[in-house]
Amino acid sequence: LILTGFSIKQDRNMKLNSQPNDSIEAKIDSLLSIMTLEEKAGQMNQYNGFWEVTGPAPKDGDAALKYEHLRNGRVGSMLTVRGVDQVRAVQEIVVNESRLGIPLIIGFDVIHGYKTLSPIPLAEAASWDMEAIRRSAEVGAAEAAASGINWTFAPMVDVSRDARWGRVMEGGGEDPYLGSKIAAARVKGFQGDDLSNPLTVAATAKHFAGYGFAEAGREYNKADIGMSTLYNMILPPFKAAEEAGVRTFMTGFNTLDEIPVTGNEFLLRDILKGKWGFDGFVISDYASIEEMVVHGFVKNEKMAAKKAVEAGVDMDMEAYSYVNEIVGLVNEGKLDESLVDDAVRRILRVKYELGLMDDPYRYLDAQREKEVVGSSSHHEAVLDMAKKSIVLLKNEGNLLPLKKNGQKIALIGDLADDKNSPLGSWRIASDDNTAISVLEGMQQYKGNKLTFEQGAQLVVGAESFLTEVRFNTTDKSGFPAAVKAARNADVVVMVLGEHGFQSGEGRSRTNLDFPGVQQELLEEVFAANKNVVLVLNNGRPLAIDWAAKNIPAIVEAWQLGTQTGNAVAQVLYGHYNPSGKLPMTFPRNIGQTPIYYNHQNTGRPEDPNPGADMVWWSHYMDVENTPLYPFGYGLSYTTFKYDNLKLNKEQFEMGGEVQVSVDVANTGNYDGKEVVQLYIRDLYGSTVRPVRELKGFELVDLKKGEKRTVNFTLTEAELGFFNNQGEYVVEPGEFEVFVGGNSVETLKASFMLGKE
Ligand code: BGC
Repeated sequence: LILTGFSIKQDRNMKLNSQPNDSIEAKIDSLLSIMTLEEKAGQMNQYNGFWEVTGPAPKDGDAALKYEHLRNGRVGSMLTVRGVDQVRAVQEIVVNESRLGIPLIIGFDVIHGYKTLSPIPLAEAASWDMEAIRRSAEVGAAEAAASGINWTFAPMVDVSRDARWGRVMEGGGEDPYLGSKIAAARVKGFQGDDLSNPLTVAATAKHFAGYGFAEAGREYNKADIGMSTLYNMILPPFKAAEEAGVRTFMTGFNTLDEIPVTGNEFLLRDILKGKWGFDGFVISDYASIEEMVVHGFVKNEKMAAKKAVEAGVDMDMEAYSYVNEIVGLVNEGKLDESLVDDAVRRILRVKYELGLMDDPYRYLDAQREKEVVGSSSHHEAVLDMAKKSIVLLKNEGNLLPLKKNGQKIALIGDLADDKNSPLGSWRIASDDNTAISVLEGMQQYKGNKLTFEQGAQLVVGAESFLTEVRFNTTDKSGFPAAVKAARNADVVVMVLGEHGFQSGEGRSRTNLDFPGVQQELLEEVFAANKNVVLVLNNGRPLAIDWAAKNIPAIVEAWQLGTQTGNAVAQVLYGHYNPSGKLPMTFPRNIGQTPIYYNHQNTGRPEDPNPGADMVWWSHYMDVENTPLYPFGYGLSYTTFKYDNLKLNKEQFEMGGEVQVSVDVANTGNYDGKEVVQLYIRDLYGSTVRPVRELKGFELVDLKKGEKRTVNFTLTEAELGFFNNQGEYVVEPGEFEVFVGGNSVETLKASFMLGKE
């Protein structure tokens, strides 16, 4: 076996014109020197999977063209081809039939797991647990890699403040600091320490940049962002991903300042490849090069290809623009070949790092695929992640945890016995999979009498990632049975919210309420029995003002993946004490959107004369300014008390450090975990600073009755900000420090930095 491996490497080195002991850069030099322009453009071309690769060769149409291109070295990468057999088949075409046999890099959207699914990324963000998030990404990477995949199009690190945008489910929420920590954890989880380990995959930071600010939350819309927001809110998680070693970046579909980000030199050349020195490669978003024509940015596909290469996009995802146009552009003197060489160099570099150049089949091991995909340790990891992602929003009258014996429980809601929806959006390799439903999870607790009623069907018609979801808006025929079940029960558990395909790409909404007739169902059931525990399933913040006022217990359970039912049941029954905190603000109503905690003061933030009918201050006539649930919010079955916030000094030199300490005590009846959060406010600056900025957090485990001092260090790097030229500045002045269990209820201290 060793000998075979050795001779594969020898043969390949000869074919690729390199010496085995050369450095990667030297190998790339010599390979580039023998590549034709067609072959170079080929490396920059990525095609979507298109036919059963293991079946007969396609004879006509698009598939035949792609097949031909694979054979003559005009494809550098494929996406969505998966599984050892399929990947081997496609890799063999390239390796055996193209002149140089440069292996493909196989990309795939491993967004929250491959087959064994983790919670959707927004849910994972609610854990604030970076080790669990890293592990979850590692599980996804291991399964994908065992299925022949080398590269995931994740993490999505777009900061977003607008719950109307369906893709908030794919991100880390609204905060750049938390988002940066999550970005780094995911990159480490996917890539591990050594990219050449065939249990890891290369990661992608996407979508660079601004897509999360799609105007009015409408999918693919323009992003209108000022420089301060770009530098301070949007770019930090990308920078964190880059610092964690992410090997690729993906552009997006949006424009930024009216320039498509796929043709944006400022973002890709000046910032990413220039200032940050990124040496991996950049891929366009799906056909986004071609979309620049539709945007009205360039005249035709040829000019789109030119713009994209010049801006710094190294690989074209399925637009055919590079494979069609690059050769002509260079030959006509319209595109500098050195830009092409640079793009190819970057792509080859990552292929070398993955070990593909030495052995194109090193990821392909059918036995490993069998053992790794769906292994029991992976199920344990995603169950752990699922429990950690749950956020307890309300628990009045201690309805929760549920008693384990002697109760009559009515479980109501279409989503409660759904085995598809909890998998969430983006699980292409897992469409044939099912989740453990909440009903199945609850049925394991035999001490209570459980009845189930659907109440109302949530979704009608096709349920697929690729098709529009239609809501049930009228059918209430199941209401009477649900109301009857509620009346006969001691406690009602209602599972309501969005279907897994009601968020994700292409799933923008103009309402944040419960789709369909669910709100009416909730109110009718509540009228029959006030002991309602509402379990939310959703991929975005919802505006559930009525429920928050009336329903005694509310559990945010997102879409938690394969182990959903087990996680929810363990939390409801108190086998797991929830500790999640919201990574995105929940509004009172849609009109408050975008609403986020790190906003700025207006010149008139408060009512100057409360009680008098004062109009001239920053407010709405019909709803208060505060959110329904703030960023960082989440309860536990126990209670925590914060005390004794201290700074080691009140006056700090520039360049010094600030030590912050606080006592946190578990004052309730259960052991529990708390996310202790540290925020600052820079009271005045050369640009206006937010009223709160997260600058630290720590997850502390406290036994019942236990008290601990938690310490933070604030360094200069945390006290500065980017000015509108993108320079990092730290300015002298007064700062406030806030510590607490969410972004609102905090203790406060202050200090002075430097001398004014
Ligand atoms: C999405 C990307 C994704 C790509 C490939 C695009 O529509 O915007 O995030 O990676 O498709 O599936």
